[in-house]
Amino acid sequence: MTDCIFCKIISGDIPGDIVYQDDDVLAFRDLNPQAPTHVLVIPRKHIATTNDIQPEDAELIGKMYLAAKQIAKDEAIDEAGYRTVINCNRAAGQTVFHIHLHLLGARPMGWPPG
Ligand code: 5GP
Ligand code: ZN
Repeated sequence: MTDCIFCKIISGDIPGDIVYQDDDVLAFRDLNPQAPTHVLVIPRKHIATTNDIQPEDAELIGKMYLAAKQIAKDEAIDEAGYRTVINCNRAAGQTVFHIHLHLLGARPMGWPPG
């Protein structure tokens, strides 16, 4: 997707503070962090929203969570705890339409979320 900012981070057209990458998944620090650790985990495949996930993407979505688990360990927030969130569409606050898993940690998290 040429007009997708996260595809541009994947291609290197836009810089990203990358903390993890493999053949399927990329992770980088959020530009406007909402916690001391705020990393976005994205699939290299462009999928606009969770509504667009297909059965053949099941392994890919699992790999996003495996990456998040590894990053949480690398950031030393795994034991204390952290939150993973995927916003879908406008009511949930999605602003970038390439699915991304927010990994938030290193501060207490309120519940329910806003
Ligand atoms: P959403 O609101 O769609 O769930 O989350 C989009 C996230 O992407 C926001 O937290 C926002 O700060 C982040 N973001 C938007 N543009 C960029 C960018 O160009 N680079 C990085 N690293 N993060 C971005
Ligand atoms: Zn994209």
